Amino acid sequence: MALIVQKYGGTSVGTVEKIQLVAEKIIETKKEGHQVVVVVSAMSGETNRLLALAKNISSSPDNRELDVLLSTGEQVTIALLSMALKEKGFDAISYTGGQISIQTDSAHSKARINNIEVGRVQRELEDGRIVVIAGFQGVDEHGNITTLGRGGSDTTAVAMATALSAQECRIYTDVNGVYTADPRIVDDAKKLSSITYEEMLEMASLGSKVLQTRAVEFAGKYNINLRVLSSFEEGSGTLITNEEEIMEAALISGIAHNTDEAKLTVIGVPDKPGVASLILTPIAEANIEVDMIVQNVGVNNSTDFTFTVHRNDYDKAMSILKRTAKEINAADVIGDDKIVKISVVGVGMRSHAGVARTIFKVLADEKINIQMISTSEIKVSVVVDEKHLESGVRTLHMAFGLGKV
Ligand code: ADP
Ligand code: ASP
Ligand code: MG
Repeated sequence: MALIVQKYGGTSVGTVEKIQLVAEKIIETKKEGHQVVVVVSAMSGETNRLLALAKNISSSPDNRELDVLLSTGEQVTIALLSMALKEKGFDAISYTGGQISIQTDSAHSKARINNIEVGRVQRELEDGRIVVIAGFQGVDEHGNITTLGRGGSDTTAVAMATALSAQECRIYTDVNGVYTADPRIVDDAKKLSSITYEEMLEMASLGSKVLQTRAVEFAGKYNINLRVLSSFEEGSGTLITNEEEIMEAALISGIAHNTDEAKLTVIGVPDKPGVASLILTPIAEANIEVDMIVQNVGVNNSTDFTFTVHRNDYDKAMSILKRTAKEINAADVIGDDKIVKISVVGVGMRSHAGVARTIFKVLADEKINIQMISTSEIKVSVVVDEKHLESGVRTLHMAFGLGKV
């Protein structure tokens, strides 16, 4: 008898009918003789609906109350799914994050899990019950409800699998695995049968929302067998695992894109030591995360300084920068929130030169202007105008031979 953690995302539990189908699927696993812990998301669209309600009341809703609100989405699903399981004759019980002590830090809307008390869940499993847990939420040390960031139910699932030493953590979703690019953008994207933690981590953090970055981080750290599968189609999905387990490492594993960023540039910055820190410190103090940073070589003692932030932070970053620009005697601040970051990812890049060159060449042939570039050992990212999103992703996908042959 093995312990399996299964997670069902929003679209998989989007209607009462789908919740019934998910219940059937859980029962199949239970009938195979396994213990089953299920983690669910809010019904599709629900988290966005709740967010919109809050925004109708305040343009920057109180963080604590926002988490109280958003956590209700998952609470609806756990109750409905447990009822459906009971209706079909299987004993199930639902728990919110707080009820089973999923303890997090106090960073509302992006909390990190510190500890999970598994005793209660273990006792339920020993009593033969299916345990249904609300994803995306926990409690901090003061008992406040916290949430784990968008897509956070993936992380709840992996954390539960880790805490319970589960045999496998299965993430059921609306695609049947991890693809070489978002299948909604690239028609001939290919499903990968496996991918390393490292590559998946890079893909996720560069925008492939099929898994939350922290879930992959967790899985890699604790060596959890993580599999992405379709909720409603048969198949073995994609296994996320160690490099050693993967037979043929490809040069490039995939193309990721991120449409959530915006770019800001301080123009005419006096070129002297300490300027980057003067610009970025107030941004960091406002809790704004900075992604790519580019500083040009100074000419005539003056330089331009460009960086990207999450689009939600664009207005805030802009007003901070305008203040800073005055203080440091910079000429101006300009910004653009109509950009997209496209990234080419692959561990094979480590031993292979020329990937960046190919990227620049094919984008130039497509007349796509590159605004920013950043590289690491296993990825190259470019920022381009958002109108080039689809053509950029498709062109790169084709250039590296990732499509179906
Ligand atoms: P869930 O609600 O089940 O958590 P998500 O919407 O969070 O589902 O994640 C699944 C979506 O991720 C897919 O519908 C797909 O559009 C998107 N996606 C982005 N990149 C990839 C990729 N490389 N492979 C598979 N899906 C991807
Ligand atoms: N319901 C949350 C969201 O929409 C968490 C999740 O689905 O993983 O982001
Ligand atoms: Mg998700």
